[in-house]
Amino acid sequence: MQSAPQVSDPSDWSAGFSKQGELDSHLRCPICREVLRGAVMLNCHHTFCSACLRRHLDKESACPACRESANTAQIRRNVALEEVANCFLLLKTVEDSVRRANEDQERLVARSDKDGRGDRNDDDMDGDYGNSYGGEGESDGGVAAG
Ligand SMILES: [Zn+2]
Ligand SMILES: [Zn+2]
Repeated sequence: MQSAPQVSDPSDWSAGFSKQGELDSHLRCPICREVLRGAVMLNCHHTFCSACLRRHLDKESACPACRESANTAQIRRNVALEEVANCFLLLKTVEDSVRRANEDQERLVARSDKDGRGDRNDDDMDGDYGNSYGGEGESDGGVAAG
């Protein structure tokens, strides 16, 4: 499932980055469903990729989101949003590496957890083996929308 560091879905964010997941959904082009590339907006303030919107307006003189009449003369660059989208893609790359590091650490913590909580009872140490690793049941991403 999670092979390449891609922004495949707004729910693709790990728990600590849930706000970025929300941001993700605002930065997507309604036409191609990807993060905006060269953000442009219409009079109705809906924002799309530059290429997506121009392609759409070739066929239809209406906003793809709200159907308000629109044409290429209305197109305005949304520079701020474009910058945000670019930063966002970078952030996603960072998040991905952070998540991978966290997963490594969780594995280490799970291993050293046995030493952490133990009664100060020397004799008990030996008898504690034989427990299987059952503590990894924490499911990730339980944040449902809504
Ligand atoms: Zn697009
Ligand atoms: Zn619109």
